[in-house]
Amino acid sequence: MNVNQSAPPVPPFGQPQPIYPGYHQSSYGGQPGTTAPPTPYGTYNGPVPGYQQTLPQGVSRAPPSSGAPPVSTAQSPCGQAAYGQFGQGDVQNGPSSTVQMQRLPGSQPFGSPLAPVVSQPAVLQPYGPPPTSAQVTAQLAGMQISGAMAPAPPPSGLGYGPPTSLASASGSFPNSGPYGAYPQGQAPSLSQAQSHPGVQPPQRSAPPLASSFTPPASGGPRMPSMTGPLLPGQGFGGPPVSQPNHVSSPPPQALPPGPQMTGPPGPPPPMHSSQQPGYQLQQNGSFGPTRGPQPNFGSPYPGAPTFGSQPGPPQPLPPKRLDPDAIPSPIQVIEDDRNNRGSEPFVTGVRGQVPPLVTTNFLVKDQGNASPRYIRCTSYNIPCTSDMAKQAQVPLAAVIKPLARLPPEEASPYVVDHGESGPLRCNRCKAYMCPFMQFIEGGRRFQCCFCSCINDVPPQYFQHLDHTGKRVDAYDRPELSLGSYEFLATVDYCKNNKFPSPPAFIFMIDVSYNAIRTGLVRLLCEELKSLLDYLPREGGAEESAIRVGFVTYNKVLHFYNVKSSLAQPQMMVVSDVADMFVPLLDGFLVNVNESRAVITSLLDQIPEMFADTRETETVFAPVIQAGMEALKAAECAGKLFLFHTSLPIAEAPGKLKNRDDRKLINTDKEKTLFQPQTGAYQTLAKECVAQGCCVDLFLFPNQYVDVATLSVVPQLTGGSVYKYACFQVENDQERFLSDLRRDVQKVVGFDAVMRVRTSTGIRAVDFFGAFYMSNTTDVELAGLDGDKTVTVEFKHDDRLNEESGALLQCALLYTSCAGQRRLRIHNLALNCCTLLADLYRNCETDTLINYMAKFAYRGVLNSPVKTVRDTLITQCAQILACYRKNCASPSSAGQLILPECMKLLPVYLNCVLKSDVLQPGAEVTTDDRAYVRQLVTSMDVAETNVFFYPRLLPLLIVVKQEDKLEMLFKHFLVEDKSLSGGASYVDFLCHMHKEIRQLLS
Ligand SMILES: [Zn+2]
Repeated sequence: MNVNQSAPPVPPFGQPQPIYPGYHQSSYGGQPGTTAPPTPYGTYNGPVPGYQQTLPQGVSRAPPSSGAPPVSTAQSPCGQAAYGQFGQGDVQNGPSSTVQMQRLPGSQPFGSPLAPVVSQPAVLQPYGPPPTSAQVTAQLAGMQISGAMAPAPPPSGLGYGPPTSLASASGSFPNSGPYGAYPQGQAPSLSQAQSHPGVQPPQRSAPPLASSFTPPASGGPRMPSMTGPLLPGQGFGGPPVSQPNHVSSPPPQALPPGPQMTGPPGPPPPMHSSQQPGYQLQQNGSFGPTRGPQPNFGSPYPGAPTFGSQPGPPQPLPPKRLDPDAIPSPIQVIEDDRNNRGSEPFVTGVRGQVPPLVTTNFLVKDQGNASPRYIRCTSYNIPCTSDMAKQAQVPLAAVIKPLARLPPEEASPYVVDHGESGPLRCNRCKAYMCPFMQFIEGGRRFQCCFCSCINDVPPQYFQHLDHTGKRVDAYDRPELSLGSYEFLATVDYCKNNKFPSPPAFIFMIDVSYNAIRTGLVRLLCEELKSLLDYLPREGGAEESAIRVGFVTYNKVLHFYNVKSSLAQPQMMVVSDVADMFVPLLDGFLVNVNESRAVITSLLDQIPEMFADTRETETVFAPVIQAGMEALKAAECAGKLFLFHTSLPIAEAPGKLKNRDDRKLINTDKEKTLFQPQTGAYQTLAKECVAQGCCVDLFLFPNQYVDVATLSVVPQLTGGSVYKYACFQVENDQERFLSDLRRDVQKVVGFDAVMRVRTSTGIRAVDFFGAFYMSNTTDVELAGLDGDKTVTVEFKHDDRLNEESGALLQCALLYTSCAGQRRLRIHNLALNCCTLLADLYRNCETDTLINYMAKFAYRGVLNSPVKTVRDTLITQCAQILACYRKNCASPSSAGQLILPECMKLLPVYLNCVLKSDVLQPGAEVTTDDRAYVRQLVTSMDVAETNVFFYPRLLPLLIVVKQEDKLEMLFKHFLVEDKSLSGGASYVDFLCHMHKEIRQLLS
């Protein structure tokens, strides 16, 4: 069976170009709305029996206001938007002068006394076993940092298509926009910052060879360090550089004797007198022969061997050796990818293609594999055997966003209706019909591409095959030619064999003293009056099918009858919170248009009714219980929107106590801070999932509210948590309202079950995200919106086959906003390899980081944070050591060699290690950490990328508030040493290098 299909260039059915006002450009890499031209799709061939084209679902009206950021932001101690990196637009981080100027004195000792580095010889890199003595070596060639001026040449035929026109780069990054606001001469433009003015970049397409290094940790702005001409040994020694698969990186390079370096004066390092610059200084087994004491380095890696390993009396700083320009720069990698891959559509017809980076704005043409907007993988080429996979330690995972919103230029999945017979599936493994199924025996049977079972084709689905064995109607049927599509589900796919009712939204508003005092209740009620007109609708529906209901509460609950026939809303109070019931059925969930007058009256009255409240205590679990019972009584799925202000200390189920204790940080009990303090919420969540009751929680705390416990139900029901510490209307209303609008308008799939099937040889073994699982295979989601991802890890259970590759099929059964039961199918074919180099050439670091962060963030629930951090570091070192051992050409031990696809792995991983969950600063609260932990759990790759490596705002914008924002900014300077002891980028690279050497020795 060969599944390496390639579809014809243009699928004959035209793909409509629906408009999705709900789509926010910023979700796709945060770029300002650069839209590519519409893609030239062919025309639709007309309806085919059995295939009913329906309108793509989606909202088709404008949101009430624009500019909602893709993800809510959190706050750390009142007023500090510590997690405000989302939605910041065109911002930047990176080894620029901005970073340098913020460097603290404490980090000074680190970068400076680095040892000379041996650069990676520029050689033709065979992607096979370690090269033999025939290897061409150019010992004096500089480092291969492909990120500098010219892009790395693409790996031939693998993943990276031919470089496209540079002129049509998609983004405006980096020289326009806010960054351009720097006064000239203060901050070099990015391209300037990446090159040496004194050295002409090579006039060829190979990566330029960086040469000497200046230390980044000098405390001064990062300025070009080379003033002279190219030094011997720094130039382009060796054959043309064609080593696209790896980049050797920062380890300090030995300088030939001679001046040429600017930088703080100082004596040359003692061991620097070698006659062979660039090579022999690294043989002493320690990284950096000339090193003073490293008083601060111990903290990031307590217990680890110290970095310099040569404690001694303080020495004057030697000349700087490490050139920050030679360190792989995320900004450069991002920019290069935009230039190379942003101008042409990503066509999914070929198996195992690595998509453009999430930071690149690109269009997708579905020709048989799911778009990377739906599925991204850590590697698009999987080792054939588990032994290989274990050797490499590269996690095999897919980050799946089944309901991802698409840009307007891309068609959302077709809906296929097979009538009463329902979707065609494999009899044995139950996989759904897809482009990889093989039709045989003249079309009367098909062989399952997942389990190889031979199935009969039902008479109504029969079609003849052409001379290539393909069905002649293949391109008329989405399920035979596209990577993603939907099936209408039959009643067999419905709960209790009954088609579902449209879902309902219930707004549950805390009206205790704090909520009233801050103006929250008034603001919210005012907003809801208009927002209710924008509930999600499907296709061309005139109005939303979603019904709404209202509850207010403090330590009792108030239900409201807003039946359209009433002149005024009626309140019913339930004070028996221990045994929650819903006091009314008729009139609680209503159609907005029918009951508009009553609802408006209610929303006008709520702030007045509780204006004089003195009630400060609240309940929480009974509120969720009430909403869930109401949905149960109405026999529908739905979503609860909870607006809550305080720790629920009132006597009731789910009552909580304040157990915040910062003294637990860095102890074995730290994990308890992330665990819920009672099991009651898991039990409640399970009931909610069974009912298809998704819970979105908006928190407005003035103090500790135990986010770790309160977020359990949202987390297990596919919901979202938003947090606004010390909410003040004047400061926070914009952010809150934009979050709220976006949240309410989101298209959501309800009562969903997701299953990931794989072809023989691998299987899904682990899942990360906001969901519930009652068995080992089915991901249950009370609700799933277009922002939520599920990260799935795969393991081998047999040998894979290079020829047939590996297949994934993600099937999501859900109820649409209009109450239609559907199946959304995503298919993806991956390559399989017997050479490790093929694995390393087809990895995606952003997706690896997404997986590793989620893995670590779950780990802190059960293990000491230090253990989790060490595990991450070890895994990263193993990945890189395996590459070095098996894929890179032999080179000096003193050299750090990184695979091209993973050259940003160290910097990004260091950002994860320094994040508030794994290394909290003094200003980070327990609630912040719990909040971030759950937030990251369902992030997609674009979100984790910008979350862990935030792009910085230009300083000019915030210069007036410098005091308040200084801490915030330091938080974002992820390449610097952090206040909480996190290592700088350079330090971490060196540490990683040492770990790798230990593994290889
Ligand atoms: Zn099968």
